[in-house]
Amino acid sequence: MAEQPGFGFMEPFALRGPFPSGAPAIFIDQVARLGQECGLISCVGRDDFGTMNIERLRQDGVDVSAIQVSADHATGSAFVRYRPDGERDFVYNIRNAACGQTQLTDDAFRLLDDARHFHVMGSSLFSFRIIHAATTALRRVKENGGTISFDPNIRKEMLDIPEMRAAMEMMLQYCDIFLPSGPELMMLTEANTEDDAVREILGLGVKEIVVKRGSRGASYYSADQTLHLPPFMAEEIDPTGAGDCFGATFVTCRLQGHMPEQSLRYANASGALAVSVRGPMEGVSTFQQLDAVIAQAVGVA
Ligand code: ATP
Ligand code: MG
Repeated sequence: MAEQPGFGFMEPFALRGPFPSGAPAIFIDQVARLGQECGLISCVGRDDFGTMNIERLRQDGVDVSAIQVSADHATGSAFVRYRPDGERDFVYNIRNAACGQTQLTDDAFRLLDDARHFHVMGSSLFSFRIIHAATTALRRVKENGGTISFDPNIRKEMLDIPEMRAAMEMMLQYCDIFLPSGPELMMLTEANTEDDAVREILGLGVKEIVVKRGSRGASYYSADQTLHLPPFMAEEIDPTGAGDCFGATFVTCRLQGHMPEQSLRYANASGALAVSVRGPMEGVSTFQQLDAVIAQAVGVA
């Protein structure tokens, strides 16, 4: 992560890191922090970045048995620099890194057969190999009676990968919970308004749509309920990873039987805590921390 804001990576400047990261890893780490049994299917290189990620996830309670270690590829990495307006520029070393080698090993199938839910990050769908693995995995979980969630997590740097859009449209057909950020709600539809997009997506069979709205909070839509919740107060230090923590918290709450409104409240608290800490995976929270944020806000109101 660049220490100071600016545009792109065209001159030398101070960077801070490495941080354990990657949208799927942040998501699953947040799930584990909430005490939910969970695992990640991925691949890292035989290098310090890979070891750091695996050890961090293991320590937080994630099943890492389906994370392969490649001898031939380095761990995926990303460089991020905030622009003065809060937008971000990235340099990615992902497609040709170890994560691009992710396969459904026997360990992965064991994990899938134990799972009642499977989450897909759209930003992972960068090659036919991964798209095939993700589709196979989600079919397996669905066949076993499980549910699917999908966060498109579209980055402008990835939009020129042609197979990604088709894969994302397919994920939309399959998922039970759809977790777009603001404009992503409309990106995969024909709609020109949010209301039309919601109708179109619910019409596909998606049961719940949760829209992340950054510092404006979040919304929830199902066939019979619409909710808009304001954000919790937070000092925005580093918003990277907030959406992943938010999504992980919402999905975990729903799986644990919380109603949509309480799940959305917990997710908002999770996002608020995530933005207030520097480092993409450093802002994950326990239920105790989320309860404290919610109680404090009630106290203020
Ligand atoms: P990323 O993909 O980088 O993780 P995102 O675009 O998917 O981010 P955001 O909408 O930025 O996700 O943030 C997710 C949630 O975190 C928001 O819906 C909100 O609940 C919370 N959040 C984000 N920014 C703030 C903020 N400045 N103050 C309070 N809460 C915030
Ligand atoms: Mg996101």
